[in-house]
Formats: sequence, C-alpha cells, structure tokens
Amino acid sequence: MSRFWSDTARRLTPYVPGEQPRMDKLVKLNTNESPYGPSPRAIEAIARAASEDLRRYPDPNSEALKAALARYHSVTPAQIFVGNGSDEVLAHAFMALLKHDAPLRYPDITYSFYPVYCGLFGIEAAPIPLTDALEIDPADYVGGAGPIIFPNPNAPTGRLLPIAAIEQILAANPDVPVVIDEAYIDYGGEAAIPLIDTHPNLLVTRTFSKSRALAGLRVGYAVGSAELVEGLERVKNSFNSYPLGRPAQAGAIASVEDEPHFRDSCARVIASREWLGRALTELGFEVLPSGANFVFARHPNHTGVALAAALRERAIIVRHFKLPRIDDYLRITVGTDEECAALVEALKELV
Ligand SMILES: *Cc1c(COP(=O)(O)O)cnc(C)c1O
Repeated sequence: MSRFWSDTARRLTPYVPGEQPRMDKLVKLNTNESPYGPSPRAIEAIARAASEDLRRYPDPNSEALKAALARYHSVTPAQIFVGNGSDEVLAHAFMALLKHDAPLRYPDITYSFYPVYCGLFGIEAAPIPLTDALEIDPADYVGGAGPIIFPNPNAPTGRLLPIAAIEQILAANPDVPVVIDEAYIDYGGEAAIPLIDTHPNLLVTRTFSKSRALAGLRVGYAVGSAELVEGLERVKNSFNSYPLGRPAQAGAIASVEDEPHFRDSCARVIASREWLGRALTELGFEVLPSGANFVFARHPNHTGVALAAALRERAIIVRHFKLPRIDDYLRITVGTDEECAALVEALKELV
C-alpha cells in the first residue's frame, strides 16, 4: 500500500498469471501455450513488418485484420472487434456490455480474470455454482436477470458444452448480453459464432494465444452483432486507439490465412490430450473430459499442492489453484509428446 495510490488502486485484487520462469530445460505445462510454433507465414509477416514503417502509427481500426477474420468466419467486418489479447477484449466487454444493474452471472469456478474485472469496473457478480461433476448446467441460467459470461470449454475444468446447451442458455436470455469466451474452442468444440445471426445479444471472444500459438503477439478478437461491436469500439476508443501494433496486425492476418498449419497443430494437440488423459487415468487419476488443450485431474491419494510441488522439483511446472472445490486438481497443459511422456514418468514415481 502506498499513500500515493488512488482509492481504486488500493481496492484492486489483480489477476495472477501463470509464471513464465526463465529456466531452460523446463517442462512448462502451466499456461496453456501451444507446444508447436506459430505459422511460419506469421513469423515472416511479423519480420516484414519490422521495417522503417514502424515510425508510423498502425491502422487504429485494424481493418485488414478485421477483413481477414470476417472472411474466415463468414461475417461482416462490422461484426468483428479486435484487441490486445482477448483479455483486453474481455475487459472492454465487461465495461461496455456486462456492467448493468442486475449482477453479472458466471460459473463459480471459471476464468479467474472475470472476478478481477468485476473489481476493476465495479460490477456486482452473482456466481452460479458448477454441478458436482464441475459442469455448467444450462438450466441454472434460466430465469435470472443479469448478463452472462462463461468460457466454452470452461477454464480451468476443460469441460465443453454442446451447442444445444448454448442455444438453451441463449433462448432463456434474449434481453441481456451473453458473452462466450471461446479461448479453447478450436480443440474439438462446436463454435457459437453461427448463432450471432439470430442472437443480437451474443458476443463470442477468441484468442490467437492458444490454438494459433501467438501468445507473445497479444491478439484477441470478438464476433457479434454490429450493435455489440459498436459498444466495444466506444470503450476502446476511450482507452487506447492503437491496441494492435503493425507486427501484431500483420502476423495475425498471416496466421488466419494459414489454415493447414492451424488444423495440423490443433489435431496434434487433441491426439496428445487423449493419450495424456488415458495415461493419467491408468495412474489412478480422475481426469475430467477435456475439450481444451489442457487436462484437469486429481489423484485420490495425493493433494494438488503436494503433487505440483513434487513435479516442480523435477523441473515440471503445472498449474494448481488454491480455490475451494478444485484445490486437489492439477491443470496440465498438453505439451509435445516428449513433454507429456516426461510428466507421466515423473507422476509414475510420485503416485
Ligand atoms: C488464455 C485465456 C484468455 C486470454 O487470452 P489472451 O488472448 O492471451 O489474453 C481468455 N480466456 C480464457 C478462458 C483463457 O484461458
């Protein structure tokens, strides 16, 4: 605490990101990054963007990137919003769309940035408990009043809702904004983007950080009705006119245009996830079904803290959340096959 801090700064409870240690030879399975590199075409485009042109501001509206994303998703550019990582897109969504009189609804176990944004923007939240199986039950989102946000697949559980469940939630909530955070949808889930045509209250957010292996570039976006996007643009243009630099815009466009690389790395991660899930189950772990690039698992005879600490001694880093209900779980990012095998070998000795 400092006497120089504003009241706002004093009251905040900031988000704590997974660590990015500077050690080599670490098996880093804690922040859901892709084990494979980004599209080589994206790297080339970023390198080309590192030119004399950097003296100029970038396009404040990222129009070429919006056009590429609009083509990709078969929507219009006016239905696309882009930002400096989907965390920034989400921040603007909280301010522009999710701050209303009725409290915001989200699962009690979910992406831990949501409560942080509520604190920052003074939004009241009414968390809705997941079922005992750590699932979102669509019926729990029927009959309430406030706006809604949840990830699909949910984080950190990895559990995926089928599109019919999303439709059920949307049908019950036509008069409030519903934001679906699809950070992990590319790992086998069905996207909600086609539903934006019939649901002007639906905003879907996406990131280049996971399935497109560009966490270091900081690009995220949202797809929704022009009405919702305009609200986001109003907040963005009251905060930072140039959220995406030239290299970020160029790299993101090239990534979107390299579909084979994208499909191939998603398919490899999905195959490794299934292998990892089976291997952990054989070791006695209870593994939740995952639609993401990570698995969420616990062992009946070991605490989450102890396992995470023991893995760390073996230079393997996974994520553990000291939170009610999920204290004994480990969230393990799907790495390369070698990394997954190293994890399983280490756990074999530990359990
Ligand atoms: C990783 C993640 C994000 C943030 O992604 P960035 O684009 O890197 O800011 C958003 N939502 C969820 C659920 C995530 O796991």
